[in-house]
Amino acid sequence: MTADTCIFCRIVAGDLPCHRVFEDQHTLVFMDIFPVADGHALVITKQHAATICEADEEALTAVAATARRVAHAIRTVLAPDGLMVFQLNGAAAMQTVLHYHMHLLPRREGEPLALHTRVPGDPARLAEVAAQLAAALR
Ligand code: 5GP
Ligand code: ZN
Repeated sequence: MTADTCIFCRIVAGDLPCHRVFEDQHTLVFMDIFPVADGHALVITKQHAATICEADEEALTAVAATARRVAHAIRTVLAPDGLMVFQLNGAAAMQTVLHYHMHLLPRREGEPLALHTRVPGDPARLAEVAAQLAAALR
């Protein structure tokens, strides 16, 4: 899979838009366009790798560090009751985009849990939260 065929590679390349929160050498963070909850963000490797097994250690280490930074920002901006961090590998694990990524999913007490939804987020809200998270990063 290449930048021509992989949707996340196209986002990394700037060919497709995203509500960007953060980027560094190895990682890019943007809002999930079909958010399961307000503030649902994705941390992806810039380098294409389908799953955790194909991703290299340096990139995975960078994802963990970036996820921690964004988790702090989510706590500051949204103050959720909890934060679910998950990462799916392979269709049997319900992975739908075959480019390594970690989900940061703010959780509210009592809210039903789903891994995916087909309901797109409100673009204005996605942009607002992305900007707030970006501003809160330290
Ligand atoms: P997976 O099921 O592979 O773990 O998660 C893929 C995630 O990517 C889903 O939550 C889905 O909503 C999200 N997604 C799919 N296509 C796009 C897109 O074009 N832009 C953004 N921002 N998110 C996407
Ligand atoms: Zn890719």
